[in-house]
Amino acid sequence: KKQILEQYFSRMNPRQREAVFTVSGPVLILAGAGSGKTTVLINRILNLVRFGDAYHSDYIPPLGEEDYAFLESWAEGAGGDEERLCSLIASRPVRPWNILAITFTNKAAGELRERLERTLGEAARDINAATFHSACVRILRRYIERLGYSPSFTIYDSDDSIRVIKRQMDLCGVSDKNLKPRTLLSVISRAKDAMLTPQELMKSSNDYLTQTAAKCYQGYQQELRHANAVDFDDIILLTVRLLQENSDVLEYYQNRFRYIMVDEYQDTNLLQYKLIALLAGGHHNLCVVGDDDQSIYKFRGATIENILQFEDQFPGAKVIRLEQNYRSTKTILAAANGVIQNNTERKGKNLWTENGEGAKVQVVRLSDEQGEAAYICDTIAKNVREGQHFSDHAVLYRMNAQSASIERELTRSAIPYKIIGGLRFYERKEIKDLISYLSIINNPSDNLRLTRIINEPKRGIGEATISAANELALSLGLPLFEVLRAADEYQPLSRKALSLIEFTRMIDSFIEEEAGGLPLDELFDLVLERSGYMAALKAQGTLEQTRIENLEELKTNIQHYMQENEEPTLSGFLEEIALYTDLDSYNDSDDRVILMTIHSAKGLEFPNVFVAGAEEGIFPGSQSIYDPQQIEEERRLAYVAYTRAKAALHITCCAQRMIFGSTTRNMMSRFIKELPKETYELDDKTVSRNLLEDVRPQRTQKSAASVSRRLGAGMPARKADSASYSEGERVEHPVYGAGTVLSVKPMGGDRLLEIAFDSVGTKKVMANYAKLKKP
Ligand code: ATP
Ligand code: MG
Repeated sequence: KKQILEQYFSRMNPRQREAVFTVSGPVLILAGAGSGKTTVLINRILNLVRFGDAYHSDYIPPLGEEDYAFLESWAEGAGGDEERLCSLIASRPVRPWNILAITFTNKAAGELRERLERTLGEAARDINAATFHSACVRILRRYIERLGYSPSFTIYDSDDSIRVIKRQMDLCGVSDKNLKPRTLLSVISRAKDAMLTPQELMKSSNDYLTQTAAKCYQGYQQELRHANAVDFDDIILLTVRLLQENSDVLEYYQNRFRYIMVDEYQDTNLLQYKLIALLAGGHHNLCVVGDDDQSIYKFRGATIENILQFEDQFPGAKVIRLEQNYRSTKTILAAANGVIQNNTERKGKNLWTENGEGAKVQVVRLSDEQGEAAYICDTIAKNVREGQHFSDHAVLYRMNAQSASIERELTRSAIPYKIIGGLRFYERKEIKDLISYLSIINNPSDNLRLTRIINEPKRGIGEATISAANELALSLGLPLFEVLRAADEYQPLSRKALSLIEFTRMIDSFIEEEAGGLPLDELFDLVLERSGYMAALKAQGTLEQTRIENLEELKTNIQHYMQENEEPTLSGFLEEIALYTDLDSYNDSDDRVILMTIHSAKGLEFPNVFVAGAEEGIFPGSQSIYDPQQIEEERRLAYVAYTRAKAALHITCCAQRMIFGSTTRNMMSRFIKELPKETYELDDKTVSRNLLEDVRPQRTQKSAASVSRRLGAGMPARKADSASYSEGERVEHPVYGAGTVLSVKPMGGDRLLEIAFDSVGTKKVMANYAKLKKP
């Protein structure tokens, strides 16, 4: 029987199989990246559902001669009817609903369910694959009344939480000049992790921060209670409390979840450990997997202690180490190992692979972030021409703001992409708001956008006034803006006439400035300032920091637009923006390049990985540079990033970067310098000057700086495509192949071509970027 089971799971190595077959009691699988931890969890579930604990049970059902022959051929690897196999050797298979598998993201949970469904079919749907939060929400929806909440409770996200805490700060007379709302929230979050009530927190310390936090915590919690709302921490905290205080509920779930598995255990916090300990307290069948080198959520209270103390917390635990990496080439693995070795706080392990050497890690240094984006896009386009898919590529970065320049270049090269765990740049609220302002300056009768920002920031113009004005405009057949301009003439608007007229005067002043030739970037600054938008953001404190950074990033985009166009205009810029959103609807296939932060890439893998912005001050981030512990966490992030790559790893850095609206010069990241010499090739494109001839005089560059920027990118500059295109003409695109031009529209000094490609359908591309050929 053992032999057959070994055969069934023959794809797993012996240690992995040991983990698959050890189904009872506590198990800790401690292993490096790509060693098959998640794969083991999946196979373990498969084993549970198909065979139960057959591997360790002595029971053999009475078998006929035919059965023996069937089993023998299985053992020899012939395969055959799986249902029959199960009926012959399975010992009390585990029912799917008795299994709880906890993963780190909803995406991972979905993938797990999908992979199981492929083998198990329908039965896989009954397996509880969830994140900590979704598993707990399900429990709470059922039993939260025991804690005095109603089952229809709302979940507050961090935006909501910030709003509540700000109100409490006001009430308690705490100025947000001295204390950031976010700082208070993180103290409260830690308190919840330690299961401290506001009173207990108050008693536990007498420093100013904690005392203040405790005061606000009280009101914060009351406000949530009254709103029948819970925050993210409450979800776990309340579930733990529910289980601690209600033995019948605890018993129910202990019996329900007889087999519990947790992926990415290194990123659990104390409360999550408590939850797991409670649930696994009945049957003790708990299997956790993790890697101390990939612990990247310390800032959120995750504690590596949960792994280190597992054997003490769950007596009799079996520890299994996996050392073979199946994901990456030898070179990539050596590169990642070389970097993580610089951490002192680690258990240390010996990860090896039988995979081939593979190509060297490509470290590429570029002049600036546009060169970086162009390098990434060109490499992807080249790979796709050679037969790879867009979805074989992932671009990882440390900070969300880095995505803007990359998105821009991807869009212009007509490369489809998808952002994971974040909004696309132009979908973010603050970006949409400012684009709305600019649109109204360009076209005051844009009622939709006018309605969007008339009370953004708050000007005391309420919904009722806005809809009254809209109704008036509609019945009079006038643009809304005209009605607002003369608000004092309309009785329904008379109460707010002053604010409305003041608003239109402000917009009119922008229109005048624009007509008077104020450069676009200065107009942008003026709008931010005069509208009060920036002041309102600043008044809101730290959470809005990213929004401010995004707006600075928008300004960077405007400046790029200005550099690239001989006659930059507001309408030209807005048209270009409109294209970003418009293009997306044409990219509706799943074959897309994936963009995400390194944090959200955990557990995933891709044939080609680009790690962008490997610069001191970006990655590692500027806040961590002087703190050795934080540097170690950043280095673990680098390890996570590098080990996502299967075949090719590209690490890029820029000599100069415009980010958050200002230009900085950064040194190359230590996470490049720590790469073992033999694992990488450095291509410093900032020193090649031989491409000077390549810049055609026909595209008169605006400044020497922009010439050297293009050259610095070290690749043929994007030459203006001087060819003319006409409807019905046949063209050849480097990625999409042959197609017919449907329409040509001048746009921002370039032309937007709509092309019906023979193989991939209709797409819109910019002529200067598409590198089209005529057959
Ligand atoms: P991470 O630490 O990044 O989460 P992991 O340890 O969970 O990685 P997996 O994602 O399970 O690793 O596996 C990495 C890759 O190795 C996957 O493509 C998986 O299919 C493959 N793999 C795992 N085990 C084996 C094996 N025994 N034989 C062949 N391929 C394997
Ligand atoms: Mg994994």
